[in-house]
Amino acid sequence: MQGSKRFATEPYWQCTAISKLRSQRRSAQFKKFHNIMDLIFFGMQGSGKGTLGKSIANRYGMLVFETGEQLRKLSREDSDLAKKVKSIIEAGHLVSNEVVMEIVENFMSNLQNGETPILFDGIPRKTDQARSLNSILARHNRKYSAVILDISEKTALNRLTTRRICKICKTVYPAVYTADKCACGGELITRSDDNPEAIKTRLDAFKNETVPAMEMYSDRLIKIDGEPSIEEVKKLAFAALDGVMKR
Ligand SMILES: [Zn+2]
Repeated sequence: MQGSKRFATEPYWQCTAISKLRSQRRSAQFKKFHNIMDLIFFGMQGSGKGTLGKSIANRYGMLVFETGEQLRKLSREDSDLAKKVKSIIEAGHLVSNEVVMEIVENFMSNLQNGETPILFDGIPRKTDQARSLNSILARHNRKYSAVILDISEKTALNRLTTRRICKICKTVYPAVYTADKCACGGELITRSDDNPEAIKTRLDAFKNETVPAMEMYSDRLIKIDGEPSIEEVKKLAFAALDGVMKR
């Protein structure tokens, strides 16, 4: 984490003064780079959101906030928040909305560079998360847009039931890849949670919980067609976002 690096290299007595300076500098940066735009990225399972999200983040120099990745990162840390998260997970409980928002707040507060745009991948999942996220973003003076990588439910079902995953490196292969081995030599298998029942449950959760959250951003929602090939989708996404993300 960048935050822990800061405390490791600076003596404690300098921290307050430096962080004061930094926050002054940061608000100056906000004024200068007033076009910094965070993106809240929505997409049904099977839309290719993870892959496209990485390409978008690369192109516009964005940091990606993905809850799962943040949880893994926290599990290697020793902060109070990390301890809290570890105890919730070890008890087998789901991480509550409140704790997810604490993780977002922690992430935002550790940003060393206020001009780095953030891509929120897979969050918010529900309307209450959207409300909490929006108030955090407002508190940090962030400007944001939302993106939906749009596919039909039929496409999602089709992609999810036919994809295979490498047993060793976990790379996901779509149905068009017909070889029976991964590039790494690993065997390709169908994931056990890619059965039609489980997929339907996941798609229903998206429709019933995430779509209403997405609709809260309808005044700033950028729609990208996720049906074509990934290369084509990338072109569409960059064409839609270049104007928005340009400083
Ligand atoms: Zn592999």
